[in-house]
Amino acid sequence: MSDEITALQHFDDASLDTAFAALAEQVRRETASLSDPEAFRLHWLGRKQGRLKLISEAWLKSAPPEAKRALGIRFNQLKEQIEAALEAPAAGSSKTTVQGIDITLPGTLRTPGIPHPLLKTMHEIVSVFHHLGYSTNLGPQVESDFYNFEALNFPENHPARDTQDTLVIASQQSRPSRDRLLMRTHTSPVQIRTMIAQAPPIRIVIPGKVHRNDAADATHSPIFHQIEGLCVDTNITFSDLKGTLDHAMKALFGSDVKTRFFPSFFPFTEPSADVQISCIFCGGKGCRKCKHSGWIELLGCGMVDPAVFAAVTAERRKVNPSDDAYNPEKITGFAFGMGVERIAMMLHGVSDIGHFYSGDMRFLEQFA
Ligand SMILES: [Zn+2]
Repeated sequence: MSDEITALQHFDDASLDTAFAALAEQVRRETASLSDPEAFRLHWLGRKQGRLKLISEAWLKSAPPEAKRALGIRFNQLKEQIEAALEAPAAGSSKTTVQGIDITLPGTLRTPGIPHPLLKTMHEIVSVFHHLGYSTNLGPQVESDFYNFEALNFPENHPARDTQDTLVIASQQSRPSRDRLLMRTHTSPVQIRTMIAQAPPIRIVIPGKVHRNDAADATHSPIFHQIEGLCVDTNITFSDLKGTLDHAMKALFGSDVKTRFFPSFFPFTEPSADVQISCIFCGGKGCRKCKHSGWIELLGCGMVDPAVFAAVTAERRKVNPSDDAYNPEKITGFAFGMGVERIAMMLHGVSDIGHFYSGDMRFLEQFA
């Protein structure tokens, strides 16, 4: 490429034609063996040091005013010639190459995101209760002892309050015990928060992350997810609880699933029960998954303990001293809770809880 710019001596049409014909010929020669289109583009059309720009400046400066139009027209023609050369497939290269891009190469596959299997399971469970008229409530993961334990009728010396079981926030010793902060060990504090804020009737489900001071193994994780439910109204009985959970389990695991209730204990419900469902793997005949019993224990539940209503009433009376919305003589309620991981593991045959948190795409892609 010859880069020196010779000054124009004459500006009549014939002289201009000659000068531009030489430039056009130079462009033609360069495009005949175009190996680096970008270098060619910069050489001719570069915004600051491009040849076209330099020539146009040099020639226009010395041109008499009446020749400027003729010069401009020829510059535009030359520019079009250069641009056309850049757009056309370069001589000698593959026909499928456009400006150095091989259009026969496979494109970049962009896979759409999918909900995490835990979130998906959570949505499935919550949706069963939404269809029963429940709404969703959420609450903070850092809770006070009052909401997590005291209002839920956990006595002062209950083992769950021990730091062996509960992750507590450091340097809280100077605070009154009810205000000490901890990572919530269940989503039940949201039941208390809801009742303090709102009079019955209440029908809520509470999905969320909970924390326990547990070592991780195939079935335990220090962080996991729960869904709890609370129903408070007049004339709520244990039959309502049984009917609601029986329906929910059938909706989740299939209409053949049976449920049965066993007496249990939780500080915040009385009476309390553990719920078992007939084994979804063997239909109740007995297999390795149900330890040959035909049943799988899946959730805890019970009628709300009047002591919980009393704690809620005490808080509500700080705002309205005559509040009587949660008088256990007038209203009753039930509550239940289940682990999302456990249900997701059952539904999808996952053997290690750790897979859910690993971020391993080979695992997660199976749920797409
Ligand atoms: Zn079984």
